[in-house]
Amino acid sequence: MQLTVLPNQTVDADLSPTSARLAEALGRSLAGRVRFGHHDRQLYSTDASIYQVQPIGVVIPANVADMVRAVEICAEHNAAILPRGGGTSLAGQCTAHAVVLDASAGLLGISDIQAGAGGGSCWAEAGVALDELNNLLTRSGTGLFFPPDPSTTAQATIGGCIGNNAAGSRSVKYGRTVDSILAIDCATATGHRLTLGPGAGHADPIALKLADGVTRIVRAYEPLIRQRYPKTLRRNAGYALDLILKQLDAGITPHDLDLCPLLCGSEGTLAITLRAKCRLLPVPAAKGLALVSFASVDDAIAAVPGILTTSPSAVELIDDVVIEAALNNIECRGYVDAFPRLPGSARIEDLKAVLYIEYHEPSAQALTQKLAGVRAALPGAPVRDVTDAPGMANAWKLRKAGEPLLHALPGERKPLTFVEDNAVPPERLGEFVRRFRQIVEREGTRAAFWAHASVGVLHVRPMLDPHSPKDMEALKRIAVEVADLAKECGGVMSGEHGDGKVRGPLLERFYGPELMHAFAQVKALFDPKGLLNPGNIVAPGNVDSILQRTRTEPQPGQHPHVPHVETFYTYDDQDGFDHAVQACNGAGVCRKQSGGTMCPSYRATMDERHSTRGRGNALRLAITGQSSADGNGPAWSDPETIKTLDLCLSCKACKGECPSNVDIARLKAEFTAQRYRQGARPTISALATGHVRILNRLGSIMPGLANAIGKTRSARAVINAIMRLHPRRTLPPFSKSLYALWPRATRHARTPTPRVAIFADCFTTYNESHIGLAAQRVLEKLGYHTDLPGSNWAGGCCGRSVISVGLLPSAIAMIDTTIAQLRPLIEDDAVGAILFLEPSCLSAVRDDWLELKCQTPLALRQRLAEKSYLIEDFLDRHWDKHPNATLLPAVAARAQASNPYPVVLHAHCHQKALWGTGTSSRLLSRILGTNLRTPDTGCCGMAGSFGYDREKFDLSMAIGNLPNGGILPIARAAGAHETICATGTSCRHQIKDGAGRAALHPIQLIDQLLAD
Ligand SMILES: Cc1cc2nc3c(=O)[nH]c(=O)nc-3n(C[C@H](O)[C@H](O)[C@H](O)COP(=O)(O)OP(=O)(O)OC[C@H]3O[C@@H](n4cnc5c(N)ncnc54)[C@H](O)[C@@H]3O)c2cc1C
Ligand code: SF4
Ligand code: SF4
Repeated sequence: MQLTVLPNQTVDADLSPTSARLAEALGRSLAGRVRFGHHDRQLYSTDASIYQVQPIGVVIPANVADMVRAVEICAEHNAAILPRGGGTSLAGQCTAHAVVLDASAGLLGISDIQAGAGGGSCWAEAGVALDELNNLLTRSGTGLFFPPDPSTTAQATIGGCIGNNAAGSRSVKYGRTVDSILAIDCATATGHRLTLGPGAGHADPIALKLADGVTRIVRAYEPLIRQRYPKTLRRNAGYALDLILKQLDAGITPHDLDLCPLLCGSEGTLAITLRAKCRLLPVPAAKGLALVSFASVDDAIAAVPGILTTSPSAVELIDDVVIEAALNNIECRGYVDAFPRLPGSARIEDLKAVLYIEYHEPSAQALTQKLAGVRAALPGAPVRDVTDAPGMANAWKLRKAGEPLLHALPGERKPLTFVEDNAVPPERLGEFVRRFRQIVEREGTRAAFWAHASVGVLHVRPMLDPHSPKDMEALKRIAVEVADLAKECGGVMSGEHGDGKVRGPLLERFYGPELMHAFAQVKALFDPKGLLNPGNIVAPGNVDSILQRTRTEPQPGQHPHVPHVETFYTYDDQDGFDHAVQACNGAGVCRKQSGGTMCPSYRATMDERHSTRGRGNALRLAITGQSSADGNGPAWSDPETIKTLDLCLSCKACKGECPSNVDIARLKAEFTAQRYRQGARPTISALATGHVRILNRLGSIMPGLANAIGKTRSARAVINAIMRLHPRRTLPPFSKSLYALWPRATRHARTPTPRVAIFADCFTTYNESHIGLAAQRVLEKLGYHTDLPGSNWAGGCCGRSVISVGLLPSAIAMIDTTIAQLRPLIEDDAVGAILFLEPSCLSAVRDDWLELKCQTPLALRQRLAEKSYLIEDFLDRHWDKHPNATLLPAVAARAQASNPYPVVLHAHCHQKALWGTGTSSRLLSRILGTNLRTPDTGCCGMAGSFGYDREKFDLSMAIGNLPNGGILPIARAAGAHETICATGTSCRHQIKDGAGRAALHPIQLIDQLLAD
C-alpha cells in the first residue's frame, strides 16, 4: 500500500528500513517530490531500451539547489544515484537500482543568453528539452540555435544529451553534444558543486585534483588509447579518453584541462549535470532537403560518398520497413507521399530506400546550387526538393519517428534495440550492411535499416520476439557478432546511443582489459564509492547479462505476460490486446512540450506519471501482474494504476501522434470496464455523466425552468455534490429539443432531391439545437433534404460519454440500438451522407464502433463509418458539386472581397488525432482565404466531463492556459472583431468559462455568411 507521509513524499508501507530512512530524509529536506511507492518506482523502471530495473526511489527536485541536496543526502546514505532527463536512452543506461533524480520537471531555467554576429552562448539547466531551448531562442529573436539534434529533440534534455553525448542527423556539420558544450556546472557524487570547463583548475581545487588525476591516467594508457580508439566520426563507447589525450597533445596542462568532454557520454557515472553553458550558432539563412528514392538499400548507400563531397548538413537513410511502418501510422502516412516514385512505377511500395540529403546554406542561391548538385551527382535518380518549412518539418517527422514507428508493426517479433548504434567509416558502410544482413538472416529474421549515413552510423533493429528464449539467444549472438564486425570494419558498436546494459558487456571485447582498468580508475577518481549509475561503463556485467533484467524477464525466472482476457474491444487494428498493452517502447515522444496535442496532462503537470508513457507503463505493469510487489496476476483494481489513469483526458491525441499507435483512451476504457466486470462499482457521477443524454433530454423538456433551477445556489450545490462538479464551472444550458424545432417538411423527406442526415448527438439535440438548425438551413440552401433520424425519446447516442467512463457494456448496447435506428439511412443509397456536428461523436462511430464487440455486423458499422462525415468536411469535399453548386464559391468570393470575417479556428482533439484539423479548416480557408487563422492549439482541457470534475477543474484550466498551444490565451488575445470558431461543444464551453469569449461552431459561421 502506498502512503503519503510528508506532503511531498509517497512511500510503500512495506519499504525496507534503509529505504524508508532515506525517503524520510529526502522528504524532510527537499522542496521537490519524493516517491518511494512501488507504483512510482515501477514507472521509472524503464527507458526506451529493452530493460526494466526497479529503482530504489524517485526524486523530482524542484530546482538546482534541491538536486544538489538530493545528491548529498543519497551520498550520506550510501545510496546509488541515477540522474535522469527524458529517459529516452536506448541502451538501458537510464535504468538502475538506484535513486532516480529526474531533472526534467524542475530544472528548466535558461539564462544569460549572449548573442553575437558569429554565435553566442547561454546557460541551460539539466532538464531543459532541446526543442524548448531552441523555441525560446527563436522567440527571443536571437537568430541563434543550439545544434545537437538527436531524433528525440522534443523530449531529450540537456543533462541527458551530455550524458549520452547525443548527436543527430546534422552531426556531420555541427558535431556532437561535446562540440556545443562550453562549461558544465555539476555536482560530484558527494554533492560538491563545481564548474568544469577550460581553466576550471585555476578556480576550484577539486577541479584541479580531478584534472591532475585524469591526466595521469591518460598518460599511463596513452599508447593503447591511440591504438584502440576507433577513428570514426562517431564514438560513444567507454569514456572519452581520446578527447582528453587530444588536449594533452595540444600542450594543455591540468589547470586548463577541459573535463567537459569526459562528462559527455559518461552516462551519469561521473557527475551530475546541473546546468551547462551551451554554444549557440547562427541559424542558417537557407535550408533545403532533397529526397531521393532508390530501388535498394545498397544503391542508396553506394550514393553516399559522392553526396558527401557536396558538404551536406545531413544525409539520412530509411528503408522500406520504415516506410511500411509509416504507412500504418495515422500521422506519418501522409508524409510518405513526399517521396519521389521510381521511374516507371507510381507505387510507394516499390521504394526500397530513401535518402534525405539536407543543406544549410548562407543564401538561397547557394542552396539552389547545392540542390542542383544532387541531381548532377545522381543522374537519373528520382529526386524531390523540399524547401518550404512545413514540408521539411513533415519529412523530418517521419525520419525521426523511424524507430518508434517500427514498434507498431504487427507480429510477435519486434524491432529490438541492441545493435542499433554501430558506426563505421562511411566508405565501408555498404560492406558492413551486407555482412550485417547476412548475420541477421542466418538467425532467420529480418531487420529495419536506417542510418545517419553521413557519419556511418547505422541504426538497425532486427525483428525478434522478446518473449521467445530462442530469439533472445539469437539476440545475444547477433550482438556479439555485429560488435566484432563493426570493429573489423574500423568502427565501433556504440556510435551515439551509448553503452548501457546492452553494449557495456561488449566494451572489454572492444577495448581490452587494460583500457577497462583505465575507465575504472577514472570512475574511482570522480566517484570513489561507486554511487553514480553503477554497472554502466565500469564493471558492466558479462555477455550473458545482456539478456538479464529485461522487460520480459525483470527478475530471474519471472516472465510477466498479458493474460488471456475476454476484452470489450477486438484490438484487431492493433494486432491484438497483447500487442496494444505492450506497444509503448518508451521513446517518450509523448513528453514533447509543444506542437500537436499529445499529451495535455503531461504538459500541464510535467509529471512522468501523467504522460502517455507513464500510463502505458502503468497499464502494462498492472495487466501483466507487476503492479503489486507480490506480482499476482492482472490488477484491474490497483488504486495506483487507477490514479495514474485518472488524469487522462481520453483526448485520443496519443492514438494519432504516438508513433507506436499507443491508444490510452481505449486502454483506459477497457481497463475500467474490466474493473467493473470484477465487481467494482461505477460512481454515481460516472453513471450520471455516462448517461448524459437522459439528463439532457429531461432538461430540454422545459429548458427555461431547468436552466433557472440550475442557477439557484441550493440546486447547484446538490448537482455539484452528486456529479462532483467544480463550483466555478458553469453548466451547459439546455435548449428546446432539436426534434421539437426541426422543420417538419424536411424531417423525413421522400423526394428526388439529394438527401443527407444529421446525427442527433446529445449536445446538439438538447443543449445547442440552434447549431443543428443552422446546419439544416445551410444544407437546405445547398439543395439537400435533411433527415434527423430517431425521435425525441428514441434518439440514438454514439456512446462516447459511456465509453469515456468505461461503461463499455452500456456503450455496446447503445451502439447496437443506435445503429438499428440508422440502418435504413445507411442502406438507402439515396442518403448521400450522415453528417456530424460533434467530432467526438464521429470519432466514436469511425473508431470505437468498429472495434467494440457489438452485436451489429461489422460490415454495417463499416458502411456507416464510410458514410459519416463532419459537416464541414462534407461541404468541402463537395464544394462545387452540391445541388446548388455555385452557392459556396459565391459566398467565398463575397466574404473575401468584403474582408469582414477574421476567424480563429480551434479543432477538437479527436478530430485532430484521427483526421486532422484540415477536416474543418479546408472549408473555412476556401471561404475565408487569408482571414482564417489556425493556430497550433492542443487540447482545450475540457474533454467531455473531465473539466467539470471538481478535482480536475484546475488541471483542465491549466491545460487550456498552456503557453504553448493552450486555446485560452489565444482566445483572450483575439481581437473583439475576430470570430472564434471551435468544432467541439466542450471546447466552446471551455473558451466561454476560461476566456469569457463566445465561440461558434463553423456551421454557424457559414449560416451567418449565407444569410448576409
Ligand atoms: C527513437 C529514438 C531515437 C533516438 N535518436 C538518437 C539520435 O539520433 N542520436 C542520439 O544521440 N541519441 C538518440 N537517441 C537516444 C536518446 O534519445 C538521446 O541520447 C538523448 O539525448 C537522451 O536524452 P534524455 O534526456 O532522454 O536522457 P536520459 O535517457 O534521461 O539520460 C541519458 C543518460 O544521461 C544520464 N543523465 C541524464 N541526466 C543527467 C544529468 N543531469 N546529469 C548526469 N547524467 C545525466 C543518464 O543517467 C543516462 O545515462 C534516440 C532515442 C530514441 C528513443
Ligand atoms: S506512449 Fe507512444 S510516444 Fe509515449 S513513450 Fe510510449 S510509444 Fe513513445
Ligand atoms: S488520451 Fe490524451 S490525455 Fe490520455 S494519454 Fe493519450 S494524449 Fe494523454
